[in-house]
Amino acid sequence: MAISVFDLFKIGIGPSSSHTGGPMAAAHKFARGLHDDGLLPRAARVEVILYGSLGLTGKGHGSDKAVLLGLSGEKPELVDVDSIDARLAEMRASGTVKLFGSHEIPFVVGQDLVFERKISLPEHPNGMRFTAYDEQGDTLREKVYFSVGGGFVVDEKATGADRIKPDDTVLPYPFASGEELLKHCSNTGLSISALMLENEKAFGRTEEEIRSGILNLWRVMSDCVRRGITKEGVLPGGLKVKRRANQLHRRLQAESAEKDPLQAMDWVALFALAVNEENAAGGRIVTAPTNGAAGIIPAVLTYYTKFVPHADDEGVVRFLLTAAAIGVLFKENASISGAEVGCQGEVGSACSMASAGLTEVMGGTPEQVENAAEIGIEHNLGLTCDPIGGLVQIPCIERNAVASNKAITAARIALRGDGRHYVALDKAIKTMRDTGRDMLDKYKETSRGGLAVNVIEC
Ligand code: SF4
Repeated sequence: MAISVFDLFKIGIGPSSSHTGGPMAAAHKFARGLHDDGLLPRAARVEVILYGSLGLTGKGHGSDKAVLLGLSGEKPELVDVDSIDARLAEMRASGTVKLFGSHEIPFVVGQDLVFERKISLPEHPNGMRFTAYDEQGDTLREKVYFSVGGGFVVDEKATGADRIKPDDTVLPYPFASGEELLKHCSNTGLSISALMLENEKAFGRTEEEIRSGILNLWRVMSDCVRRGITKEGVLPGGLKVKRRANQLHRRLQAESAEKDPLQAMDWVALFALAVNEENAAGGRIVTAPTNGAAGIIPAVLTYYTKFVPHADDEGVVRFLLTAAAIGVLFKENASISGAEVGCQGEVGSACSMASAGLTEVMGGTPEQVENAAEIGIEHNLGLTCDPIGGLVQIPCIERNAVASNKAITAARIALRGDGRHYVALDKAIKTMRDTGRDMLDKYKETSRGGLAVNVIEC
């Protein structure tokens, strides 16, 4: 199984990779399949059923909007975010959708798109069934997809250990564990980022393409930080959560760093708040590795570029390659989906990845990088997913700010050591997976437990 850095970091839209990006990608796949197989002209009706966690929290995560856009031919990475509201308003007013942008059919959310809150498909908590019918009401095509986290979508045939789309690319340095990764580094003398770069080339990209692709991801991340800082007001969804990044930015600019030696921590929190507020508002985002946890890697990377002397583009590339190597371990051995393992899989994985990236660009050895990644996940173990109102706002936005500073602490602890430590990263990832398995479903992106039921929405 080969996973590329561009699988883990994908340009998409907020607020959720599994509940917005995944459903949009699935709807696009379905509409495109009808188009490619010449079935579009015969399609008279399409029915979409969202099951399990998608049924329970999909409304708050914008899954219905995502499906509408996907059916009309949009993809998360290409959709023009500024045009979304107007297009959705038009589709809702007319009660129609243009399948794959060309074939208009009636489509009404609540009638043709159903949030099935009581049923969860056995294979995965984020199931979706798409059915197209002809004029006579006969089924033209039925597809079941699963949104397995980070915007990854698989069809119903991929289950169990085979949830990730198999990719038979042969890597020069294949690894499925931290131990194997370190062994390659020790045998070759390569850093983790250099090793990842070699692996990336196996996907058919030149070194230049890889570097410019990664720098493009960084450009989207930093645009997102900038946009989040400029915007004011209340986030959509009904909780009336105020955006805070703008005001915090103004305060930090007015304050002197000399009087507060920990002011950098506030800047880091600001960078994460800015991204996650943009995510909550449905803005342009890089899944890193998910949307809910999309603020941590950009926040720590922005910290690197603004606070670490001699930071440069080469460091940015190395940071993201290293973070991706750790992301591969989470994706291969546990999960990055809040619906599967709780928030430890989203914020925990992102914190671990950011810790690793920062450690490498601060001069850490592969052992210190592995140590930092382990610290980054160990202290997020057991973290539940309980978003209030099913919105990716509380606790998600602040949680990213806290985890970003935690990632920097993890990197600093690891850099002060020699890489030797008690708990191996592989053991911490296994513990995350086991803890996720034992976690009650109400703490896995269902909004049926934790803060979601203890805080009254007003
Ligand atoms: S609580 Fe964590 S896992 Fe759940 S939606 Fe928020 S960021 Fe994602």
